[in-house]
Amino acid sequence: MHHDKRGHLRTYDQIPRRPERPADYAAYRYPVPVAEGEPLRVSGYDLNLPDSDQRRGRKLSQVGHGGVDLLAPRGTEVRVVALEHQDGDAEVLLAGKLFGTTVVTRHTLREAGRLREYVVLYGHLASVAPGIEPGRPVADGTVVGYVGDTGSEGIVHLHLEVRRVRDGVDLAKVAPERVVAGEIAVVCDPRNVLPLK
Ligand SMILES: [Zn+2]
Repeated sequence: MHHDKRGHLRTYDQIPRRPERPADYAAYRYPVPVAEGEPLRVSGYDLNLPDSDQRRGRKLSQVGHGGVDLLAPRGTEVRVVALEHQDGDAEVLLAGKLFGTTVVTRHTLREAGRLREYVVLYGHLASVAPGIEPGRPVADGTVVGYVGDTGSEGIVHLHLEVRRVRDGVDLAKVAPERVVAGEIAVVCDPRNVLPLK
């Protein structure tokens, strides 16, 4: 939850990092290479933090940051990462405008003996990779796009975000752009599902 600029308390669903998952962002594998020994220059997930520690913008008009920002040079290939306990290949759900030029992939995970669906958002891309379109299966390592700054002009980075699809939602019946609606999926700390190095 956080306070809006009028001081009202706003509450929202989010799934914080599970305690058994490493807090150190450097422990995980990402869609873009992170140089060995370099500090991992990320703006991390902050929705679980107190108001004052969230990235709210000067006017407190935004909610905090529900993803990880990875710095990489313009044009760096963005590759699908198979998530922990993933069942089968991921599939492209959207390739177009969302957070600037964005690709969204859909992943089915086996968790606690049941299947759960997650979506991964790759935002602010320079462009989508050839052949990446909705319905296309994408294995670990498939290039889906290239790092850029669409929708974040001047700040070249990959915005990586994970959301868990709510129980009972059939993504086949949802317009892809609505995948970021709160009633469709819940933003989730990516460290819960990214593979460890
Ligand atoms: Zn971001």
